[in-house]
Amino acid sequence: MSTPTIPTRAAASVDRTIRLITTGAADGAACSPDLAKGPWEFDSGPAGYGPGSSMGDVIPTGSPRQGALPEEYRTASDEELHARIRAAKATLGDRVVVLGHFYQRDEVVEHADFTGDSFQLANAAKGRPDAEAIVFCGVHFMAETADLLSGPEQAVILPNLAAGCSMADMADESSVEEAWEQLEEVYGDLSAPGADGRVPVIPVTYMNSSAALKGFVGRHGGIVCTSSNAKTVLEWAFERGERVLFFPDQHLGRNTAKAMGVPLEQMPMWNPRKPLGGNTLDELEGARVILWHGFCSVHKRFTVDQIDAARAQHPGVQVIVHPECPMPVVDAADASGSTDFIVKAIQAAPAGSTFAIGTEINLVQRLAAEHPEHTIFCLDPVVCPCSTMYRIHPGHLAWVLEELVAGRVVNRIAVADEVAEPARLALERMLAAKPPVAAPGAPAAPGAA
Ligand code: SF4
Repeated sequence: MSTPTIPTRAAASVDRTIRLITTGAADGAACSPDLAKGPWEFDSGPAGYGPGSSMGDVIPTGSPRQGALPEEYRTASDEELHARIRAAKATLGDRVVVLGHFYQRDEVVEHADFTGDSFQLANAAKGRPDAEAIVFCGVHFMAETADLLSGPEQAVILPNLAAGCSMADMADESSVEEAWEQLEEVYGDLSAPGADGRVPVIPVTYMNSSAALKGFVGRHGGIVCTSSNAKTVLEWAFERGERVLFFPDQHLGRNTAKAMGVPLEQMPMWNPRKPLGGNTLDELEGARVILWHGFCSVHKRFTVDQIDAARAQHPGVQVIVHPECPMPVVDAADASGSTDFIVKAIQAAPAGSTFAIGTEINLVQRLAAEHPEHTIFCLDPVVCPCSTMYRIHPGHLAWVLEELVAGRVVNRIAVADEVAEPARLALERMLAAKPPVAAPGAPAAPGAA
């Protein structure tokens, strides 16, 4: 297995690594040579997630498209874009806050006022009520969550509207409503408590879902979870319901429920393309956790064979993976946890430790550059970033910031009131189900992808 060596921060950039690989100047493999192109080349073509880990996934009809990025931003040099971003930020001052997700490319993250997981960033936005604009360098559902938690006068901006999330898209509103109706036929009135005071089903959605799904869950007595509080949230749900319908990531649901002792045979999968999700009535009667057929194409790439190879080549290596990875991978790893868990585990390790990490390559390479005292590499030897995070380039960031300087808000993400109200309720239930999150910008907020 080849493990990219990243000796300096300048060399840590995944973009740079991919360019070197595709030009033959470095060893290794990238999952698509198209990753070396500017992401705007995919904004004007047929709808799709673009090159990267989700390039084989089916994008739903009607997914947001990004209009043409003005040519001056497509043709500017890296140095010019960075200078223009810095100048626009300096002009805007406290009127703008730029958020950069852990999985975002380094060329964008270097301009972020806060870096973190999706929930940490949404809370960072909440802590800046003075900012007129929140530029969220992440994906669509994250910008929606920031809009839910920020003030009504604040504009949340997604620099490229095509930066969706293939996992979130796997649980669309109409499929979810249809599934709920079918479950009502199986279990009866889903809002009616049984003799033990519990309703038949509590819907639970991972933070990585649309605001519409969070709203659905909120309307039906359900709750949101993150990758680090999923166990607490499932306990909350089991107190109130006989079973859980878990969206959209089957792997987080399965890994969490299995660790809580729920047998695999009581965790049927719900395939929205099949009647009763592809299950028998008996299977649904005996279910404790019904897993929606969704997955993250970044974390699906990790395998037990990769773990075996890492252990063979690096005796003593610690393998840490994200709980969005498939169950056999989580079981074979030394530990699993949210991005925040992974970051803290590396920070706490004695110098000279070796880590094989199963999460998005931008975060892994950044950690490798920031911790030269350790050996850190990605479990997957093929460089394959998240397709949708990749869609945001410094050119998009420069464009939205300079539009703000000119008094124009572009690419605003605004959640409709009728969705926002129940979605906030589902988020509030999550916050009440565990200790309150730390102050904005602090690293102790619940983990999310
Ligand atoms: S890493 Fe996976 S869950 Fe996160 S934005 Fe990309 S596709 Fe979605």
